[in-house]
Amino acid sequence: MTDSTPPTGLTAPKLRLGLRDGSDDGWGYAPAPESTDHVELRDRYGLFIAGEFTDAADGRTFETANPATEEKIADVALAGDADVDAAVAAARHAYDEVWSKLAPRERGKYVYRIARVLQERGRELAITESLDGGKPIRESRDVDIPLAAAHFFYYAGWADKLDYAFPGRGARPLGVAGQVIPWNFPLLMAAWKIAPAIAAGNTVVLKPAETTPLTALKLAEIIRDAGVPPGVVNIVTGAGETGAAVVQHEDVDKVAFTGSTEVGKLIRRALAGSGKHYTLELGGKAANLVFEDAAVDQAVEGIVNGIFFNQGHVCCAGSRLLVQESVAGEVISKLKDRMETLIVGDPLDKNTDIGAINSRAQLDKIEEYLEIGEAEGAEPFQTSCPVPERGYWCRPTLFLHASQSHRVVQEEIFGPVLAVQTFRTVDEGIAMANNTPYGLSGGVWSDKGAKAFRVTSRIRAGVLWANTYNKFDPTAPFGGYKESGIGREGGLAGLHAYLQPEAAA
Ligand code: NAP
Ligand code: MG
Repeated sequence: MTDSTPPTGLTAPKLRLGLRDGSDDGWGYAPAPESTDHVELRDRYGLFIAGEFTDAADGRTFETANPATEEKIADVALAGDADVDAAVAAARHAYDEVWSKLAPRERGKYVYRIARVLQERGRELAITESLDGGKPIRESRDVDIPLAAAHFFYYAGWADKLDYAFPGRGARPLGVAGQVIPWNFPLLMAAWKIAPAIAAGNTVVLKPAETTPLTALKLAEIIRDAGVPPGVVNIVTGAGETGAAVVQHEDVDKVAFTGSTEVGKLIRRALAGSGKHYTLELGGKAANLVFEDAAVDQAVEGIVNGIFFNQGHVCCAGSRLLVQESVAGEVISKLKDRMETLIVGDPLDKNTDIGAINSRAQLDKIEEYLEIGEAEGAEPFQTSCPVPERGYWCRPTLFLHASQSHRVVQEEIFGPVLAVQTFRTVDEGIAMANNTPYGLSGGVWSDKGAKAFRVTSRIRAGVLWANTYNKFDPTAPFGGYKESGIGREGGLAGLHAYLQPEAAA
């Protein structure tokens, strides 16, 4: 592609894509848009209660839009208290009359069936996820959807083996689970919540995020088509108020929430003394530590993956780069070069590295932090790639020479913005990594296995990666310390969160 005119809808680039000096070497990528022809999206979506799609009792709806175009996709039913009551009643009925009486092996078959249909409809789901939430199709296709299916497969396997899961103790389900999820991994978060809950014999009422309800509603169709008994899974769409009604409902036995620390605190307060079980997966501000003995090129890839994956809308994002002073110059120079090759734009283009910011509100929040970082004295660096005119975009950004007291170091930005600091000794690096109210995740880059183990064992975070970043697996527990939450999802720990262990008979 030698034409220097930017594709339609793109602002003229200050510099050519992939080249820092603005010259054109004729090696730009041709557009590679994923076709949406076979994806059926309705104009209107209802609540999924007792196996059927229904309007809200008071008929209210809200809009979900495509953040890459700002265009409305559909009207979605807005669940009020009466609808949440109906969903919880359906879940209770299904629990008492059907699901808790079903042979565990049969329960497992339904969960397997959901996993299989997720795979079969994978392409449609990936496109829907990218349309509704703005993430690059490569990520929805290669990460979100396969991992969502993997969670159903993994927990399906446990359904008839609960007696072996926790040897010496029996295990019974908790009852009705009320679950609330965020917008950054819409279908995957729904899978994290629903798969262990129903495999363990519970029934659920799930509320997806307001800006990304569509894949959860497609999952509802899949659950219905898989023949799962009505009421085992109920999906109520709406905003924060609907979420509050779900978690505070008196007939909910277990609350599972993923979202911000702020809302997590509200929920924990509201649940105090209620006797409900709960797990909270909250925010993070993870350190990615690069030591002088690290393989620099690999570390740079890991830094990029750590903070720019999913536009940085990742609770466990490596949003603080701590790099040892002796290699800081080389690492940062290579990082800037690599960042200049990142393509920001159409989420449905297979070349896109960074898609749209999920909503206007989130873009406003990120832009506020860009101003704060600069005002506090950190040195901003932003890449020069073109971005489309319409939609919500943020170029990959660094804050160099950031210090520990800066808000861009302390607070979760939830965007493609990386705060960069340096350290001299191993102890200083560890102290800086731990100097945050959060404790969700972290990364260590070193050529020395012993050093990686020593450092990771001293960082207080639930998930730590060595010489890699953002690797997820349904068998591995995930969750935080400190203000990053309480409880674990994934693996056996994630199963345990939906069971009441009891003395073996
Ligand atoms: P959020 O504002 O806390 O929202 C999360 C969910 O809670 C949404 O469905 C939201 O509804 C709902 N909600 C809002 N107020 C509520 C209330 N008072 N009671 C019950 N539910 C309520 O978080 P977000 O901005 O969407 O998501 C980003 C945050 O999630 C980040 O902090 C990120 O770190 C965290 N996160 C954590 C993990 C983890 O596993 N630790 C994973 C992913 C994300 P609406 O948004 O629809 O209004
Ligand atoms: Mg949307």
